[in-house]
Amino acid sequence: MNSIPKLIAGPCSAESREQVIETAKNLAKLKIDFFRAGIWKPRTRPGAFEGAGLPALAWMVEAKEKYGLKICTEVAHPSHVEAVLKAGFDMVWIGARSTANPFTIQEISEAIKGVEIPVMIKNPTNPDLKLWIGAVERFMNNGIEDISVIHRGFSVYDKHLYRNNPNWQIALDIKKELPQVPLICDPSHISGRRHLVYDIAQKAMDLRYDGLMIETHCNPDEAWTDKKQQLSPAELIDLLSRLKLRDRRESVDEPLQNFRMELSEIDSDLVDLLKRRMDISEQIGIYKKEQNLVIFQKSRWEKAFQNNIDNALNSDLSEEFASQLFKMIHQESIVKQSKIFLKPDETD
Ligand code: PEP
Ligand code: MN
Repeated sequence: MNSIPKLIAGPCSAESREQVIETAKNLAKLKIDFFRAGIWKPRTRPGAFEGAGLPALAWMVEAKEKYGLKICTEVAHPSHVEAVLKAGFDMVWIGARSTANPFTIQEISEAIKGVEIPVMIKNPTNPDLKLWIGAVERFMNNGIEDISVIHRGFSVYDKHLYRNNPNWQIALDIKKELPQVPLICDPSHISGRRHLVYDIAQKAMDLRYDGLMIETHCNPDEAWTDKKQQLSPAELIDLLSRLKLRDRRESVDEPLQNFRMELSEIDSDLVDLLKRRMDISEQIGIYKKEQNLVIFQKSRWEKAFQNNIDNALNSDLSEEFASQLFKMIHQESIVKQSKIFLKPDETD
């Protein structure tokens, strides 16, 4: 049977004893691996609910003792670490805003040094793979061995479908760079809206993630933080029942091998085509230089770009993909032509 490797669920914030215990009671029936709740909440702007603080430690410990749940929370300061270790928490996580700050990470990792507790490190709010890896390294350097990373998406300025842009590639890159570190998806903070959580969770499972962290509240509509994205326990049960968990082995089936061979051939044709395109670009560069023309010719670029996008759309390729692809190709052409412009003339 293919099961979710790890499931962490619980409310965004611990709000009251009743809310923590009621949510824990419902989740205990689901055999979750860890019960989560934020005790100190890093709010973007002051004035909002900033977490119940120290009193919430006892509510979580009560949930642990009553329902046999393992408990975890976010730590953002050495004093948080001290408090949760004393209370008997089973795991901690580092929030996205903390990961973005190497000073904070250094302090927290030093506070955890010498203690055997699993640590999960969320991606920084900004799409910076090195900063995320750097945080993992700081914990490793302090001897912390049980580390996972949580993909919770990246801040966006404009309105988007999702609250935080998934940038799946960054998560796949960290998996490639740190293959021994389990990768967990937080579809709640990526999607930001209840009805979108399932799609993100499914995609994470299809991409072979090692677990899910899903915000779940006994009464989401009344939640004090992140109410739009939290699921009720019943909605979590429904999500889990719909989640398709596929075979995780690296397949070497024959049909798949044949498709992959075809892909490799197409990739190699693509490289040949790109090479031909760049050669022509260089010839254009030589011509522009001889004629003393500027490299970037705006109207010609805009026209060609729109034409490429229209073609791509007609071929069922997404506008975002085509736009990124052609901008990259154009960028590379400019680099090639700039090199030609910078080369001293033969007569110089
Ligand atoms: C949270 O998990 O509730 C939280 C504050 O997450 P993040 O650090 O991803 O914003
Ligand atoms: Mn939250």
